[in-house]
Amino acid sequence: MPNILFTNVRILDASGQQPFTGEVLVQGNRIQRVGRGLRTLPTAGVTVIDGAGATLMPGMCEAHTHFGWTNSKTLDAIQKLPHEEHTLWAASVAKLYLDYGWTSCVGAATPKPRLDCVIRNAIESGQIPGPRYLAASQEITVTGSLGDDMLPHLPFPEMSFGTVVDGAEDMRKAVRMFLKYGVDTIKLNLSGDNLVPGADATTNWMSDEEVAIAVKEAKVRGKRVSCHARSTGSIKQSMRHGLDIVYHASFADEEALDMLEAAKDRIFVAPGISVIIRLLYEGEVVGIDNSQAKRMGYERELEAAVNSMKAMLKRGIRVLPGGDYGFAWAPHGENAKDLEYFVKYLGMTPMETILSCTRWGGQMMMKGGELGEIKEGYLADLLLVDGDPLSNISILQNRDKLLAIMKDGAFHKMPEVGAAQRFARSVA
Ligand SMILES: [Zn+2]
Repeated sequence: MPNILFTNVRILDASGQQPFTGEVLVQGNRIQRVGRGLRTLPTAGVTVIDGAGATLMPGMCEAHTHFGWTNSKTLDAIQKLPHEEHTLWAASVAKLYLDYGWTSCVGAATPKPRLDCVIRNAIESGQIPGPRYLAASQEITVTGSLGDDMLPHLPFPEMSFGTVVDGAEDMRKAVRMFLKYGVDTIKLNLSGDNLVPGADATTNWMSDEEVAIAVKEAKVRGKRVSCHARSTGSIKQSMRHGLDIVYHASFADEEALDMLEAAKDRIFVAPGISVIIRLLYEGEVVGIDNSQAKRMGYERELEAAVNSMKAMLKRGIRVLPGGDYGFAWAPHGENAKDLEYFVKYLGMTPMETILSCTRWGGQMMMKGGELGEIKEGYLADLLLVDGDPLSNISILQNRDKLLAIMKDGAFHKMPEVGAAQRFARSVA
């Protein structure tokens, strides 16, 4: 890999400081030097990329990713896709995330047992392009809750959307199976979801006995446990058992907030608020109008989720964007909408939102201190952005605004030479 010097760029380094004009030298897969001002770093033997004032920022982290979701209207449709087509689909989705500047993704659940691990391994070996990826298990659930068989007559039991367990020994077996496959994260569905008749978002499903055995088995192998936890009771349950990642966390009361805060240096929260917002305001695309969405409880959940996330942010709990893209109401690729939602609904500034998906993202990827900032010695995951995301966060939704995408020191997208006279790329 040649050494790369980005010069004449506005560096948004994700340390929290305001952007500054400067240069960044990448050697191998690491950021070697960061210079303030121009012509401060050596150019001999280096490929120089003149950013003409474009913004250079760290690659983004999607905190709640499902490569296996198929942009369909229902969970059933995801489940029905045969294994072979599903694998190809997930590979194409992985590339798409990188195309949109997500250089890291945290897998939140996979619809077929080995799918996430296969995709992660293929990315790591260079077989397919994709972000850094942490592979998840299927959603482990209990009879009757979210992820339990939506189809009455499956041809093969392994085609169930989630892995259904009842009782501690069932759970132990399921967790050990996923650990054998090599997952990074075990995912538990602790609460229901408004999409499931008879198991809405405020309901609790898993026993303490089941959760305890899952955590115990995962920790033996040093793996993290995440959860789908919308209800108050499920958030508290997740904290009682030492879970690491809480997805949704919509209905957090004071006690739940206290418990989350007590674990704030370890845990991450990713609300995945797009599901709620899209179904409430744009659900017509899947035949759910606003009044139906309200009847399903989405207005109530949005209000609760906004209050919960604001309270968490005040308490210093890391709340990250991304989540549950890959449905017809929020297809893959639109994930950066979440950044806009964080500004619009959670009251975060664009800077805070970017820190959340970069700096905190590196920490969530378990690479805190070497990923998610533009800093000497850090991994070279970089985006060259045509414009200023701090004055307009929505430009990150537009992949054409990403002039260059670098992951691990290698270009996924090369800046075009001389495109509209914006770039003067030369080999010194
Ligand atoms: Zn999800």
